[in-house]
Amino acid sequence: MSEGGYINLYGRDVTKRHRAEEALRHSEEQVRLLLDSTAEAIYGLDPAGNCTFVNPSCLRMLGYADESELLGNNMHDLIHHHRIDGSLYPKEECQVYLAFKEGRGVHTDAEVLWRSDGTNFPVEYWSYPILKDGEGIGSVVTFIDITERKQAEMTMRFALQEAEVSREKIAAILKSVTDGLIVTDLNRRVVLMNRAAEKFLGTTLGEAFSRPVQDLIPAKGVAEEVLGILRGQVPGEGQEWEQSDAASDRAWMIQARSSGVKGAGGNISGAITTLRDVTREREIDQMKNEFISTAAHELRTPLTSVLGYTELLLNPEEYGISGEEQRREYLNYVYDKAQALGGIIEDLLDLSRVQAGKVLSLSPGPCEIGALLGKVVDPYRKLSSRHRFELVLPEEPVTLVADQKKLEQVLDNLISNAVKFSPDGGEIRVKGQVLKGRYQVTVRDEGIGMTSEGVARVFDKFYRVDASTTAVAGLGLGMAIAKSIIDAHGGTIRVESEPGKGTKVTFSLPLA
Ligand code: ATP
Ligand code: MG
Repeated sequence: MSEGGYINLYGRDVTKRHRAEEALRHSEEQVRLLLDSTAEAIYGLDPAGNCTFVNPSCLRMLGYADESELLGNNMHDLIHHHRIDGSLYPKEECQVYLAFKEGRGVHTDAEVLWRSDGTNFPVEYWSYPILKDGEGIGSVVTFIDITERKQAEMTMRFALQEAEVSREKIAAILKSVTDGLIVTDLNRRVVLMNRAAEKFLGTTLGEAFSRPVQDLIPAKGVAEEVLGILRGQVPGEGQEWEQSDAASDRAWMIQARSSGVKGAGGNISGAITTLRDVTREREIDQMKNEFISTAAHELRTPLTSVLGYTELLLNPEEYGISGEEQRREYLNYVYDKAQALGGIIEDLLDLSRVQAGKVLSLSPGPCEIGALLGKVVDPYRKLSSRHRFELVLPEEPVTLVADQKKLEQVLDNLISNAVKFSPDGGEIRVKGQVLKGRYQVTVRDEGIGMTSEGVARVFDKFYRVDASTTAVAGLGLGMAIAKSIIDAHGGTIRVESEPGKGTKVTFSLPLA
């Protein structure tokens, strides 16, 4: 008998058995220690699905105080009867249960488990069938709580959704901005472009993507400015160029301004270039310049006469002026020219009033329109022998409530235009008639006419078709003022014209 051996009551040597039992106890202890200390939840099931063992992590996660509360219970009834959204479902639909019944293993993260307090939590779940001699004798299950992971996933999904919404918002904003926008990278290659920029440059983002900005924008200065910005220089005043539009065969004046785009770290990561249609502004600038020279000319001509005649009158002996009649004649010239000057100044004042957003103030009173038409046409009839004047009026005189002086100003401009712009003479027909509760006046000439562009812009301030010449007097204000006067009376005015054929201006005023 070896030392440290065991003899049982009947004198048999049971050392071997005892050692085997000891080893078994030791290994059971090891397993128990492992099961107790592991953070994963572990439980075992018998073939009926009843709990045969459970580790402390499992008890803790499921919210039970003692293993006796779980041992012997059917785990599928206890913890598996909720879907991920919390709704109840029959055991037969539970994939974990079905796999258990069929002796299959399962690994899933689409499960929630039910705690003792009626709450549930998402888990990642593994189940392994236990086989003995090829027979299933139950299964062992481990799971971990993945609440945080699911929350992180939710947060991520939410953030992604938010980002998508913001992206769509930004895309919509970019699309609807009327200025063109081009974003270029550090190599001055196009990475983004909105619809307005596509329109201005006659290309699409698809075609332009990744191309150097200097390929797209004819003005060299733009690419140079972008380069400067990428090197940290201060953006300049912007660049302008004329861009022809293939679709409408007109030309645009486009102004480009660039600035740096800063990335998350505060470093310049590219440039954004805005394109603005400045065609109208440049046209207005040009009109203003022309206006200044015309206005100077218009004011100087009568002023020269006023100065000339007053000088004569002041030195009668020197210039051989004798007799009251001659003196009166010269004084009349001075008076007329001063009145012309006054008229120009009046026009400018009217205009600045309208420009300041003030409606023209009217002094309305009864106004017999036929007589007014006659009063305006008469002097022109005497002055211009080249034109045949025809005045057609309704049989009965018609009286309107209107500002007589202002209407006279409108008519005077229409008739003076008809005379000025019919250099070869021809008929000038002025017609007044009552139509549909309104009084309508038409002034028709057989002069040079206007193109459709001229017609479209005839009411613009300072607009004159041939602004470069001062041969025909005028500031380009008459029609703008006429329109504001007719508007102030609640009337309408329109122009029809054809180059070489003549022009017809029609305005109508309410009768009541
Ligand atoms: P102002 O009336 O201020 O003395 P203007 O006669 O040039 O100057 P508007 O009366 O406003 O200015 O007319 C604007 C422009 O429209 C004219 O310069 C001319 O080019 C064109 N226009 C106006 N009336 C006629 C017309 N009857 N026939 C041809 N062109 C016309
Ligand atoms: Mg005029």
